[in-house]
Amino acid sequence: MGSQAPHERRKLDLGGARGLSPADGAAQSEQRLGLPCFHAGQRVQGMFGCVACQFQIRNREALPTCPMCGELVWAYLDDGPRPVPEGESAPAAAAGKTPPAVVEENVKLDEPTGPVTVEENVKLEP
Ligand SMILES: [Zn+2]
Repeated sequence: MGSQAPHERRKLDLGGARGLSPADGAAQSEQRLGLPCFHAGQRVQGMFGCVACQFQIRNREALPTCPMCGELVWAYLDDGPRPVPEGESAPAAAAGKTPPAVVEENVKLDEPTGPVTVEENVKLEP
C-alpha cells in the first residue's frame, strides 16, 4: 500500500516580482494592488510599503531594497497623485502630439473615397 503524502504544490506567486525586471515587477504590482508602484533605485519621496511583506518606510531618496525581505518593489501609500521619480519625465503627456490611431474595420475598399492606408505593425507600446 502506498501511502504517499499528497504532493504539495506551492504557488510561486509570492507577491513579489521574481524573474522579472524591477520595472516589470513594479508594473505588475501596480496592476494587482491598484497603487502606484516603484522599484529600488527610483528616487521618489513619500510613504511606501513593501509589496511582499508590507514593511513600511518613509522614503526621501532612492528607494532601497526591502530591509526585511529583500523585495525590490514598493507601493506608494500616501494620498495624492502618483509621484514622478526624480530624473524621469511623466509618462505620455511629455511626448506632445500623439495622433489618435483610429482603426476601422469593415471599411469598404471599393468606394473611391481616396487612398486608404492600412498600417500594420503599429507599435502600441510607448
Ligand atoms: Zn519586504
